[in-house]
Amino acid sequence: MVRDIVTYPAEVLTKPTERVDVIDREVEKLIKDMFDTMYHAEGVGLAANQIGVSLSVMVIDTTPKEDAPDLKLVLINPDVVESEGKVKYKEGCLSFPGLSVEVERASKVRVRALNERGEPFEITLEDFPAIVFQHELDHLQGITFIDRLKGWRRRMALEKYRKLQREAQKV
Ligand SMILES: [Zn+2]
Repeated sequence: MVRDIVTYPAEVLTKPTERVDVIDREVEKLIKDMFDTMYHAEGVGLAANQIGVSLSVMVIDTTPKEDAPDLKLVLINPDVVESEGKVKYKEGCLSFPGLSVEVERASKVRVRALNERGEPFEITLEDFPAIVFQHELDHLQGITFIDRLKGWRRRMALEKYRKLQREAQKV
């Protein structure tokens, strides 16, 4: 089921999410809804609090085409084990419609998480998937991409976002 995406400055986006203890039917349904919502919005990643559920769950699919080899991931209670390198990328965010900002992140991350069956796994992500992962991990920790900007860059981005919101309300 496609759910509504929560947009900034909703409180649920600014609070750390809670860890998942048990993967029950509710969490399974949440994961399914997250994929439905992400594909519907043509996103490449989604954190549970972006649909208003404050749990440490993210989904990623950086190649959402049926014929392409997918990197399709469900990450529950994810943590970074190791990170290296630096990369700058102009990111978008489904919770900031229309806004894109350049953020610096690690270019390679080793990640530990549980999969949708509750089994622990580790994976190394590089380049674009690493960027998407770190963006979603920030969401799970109550951090949005504008919080990665400092001083006037952050103020400018917020100003631009507010302007986009005002324009969207007019139509
Ligand atoms: Zn986002």
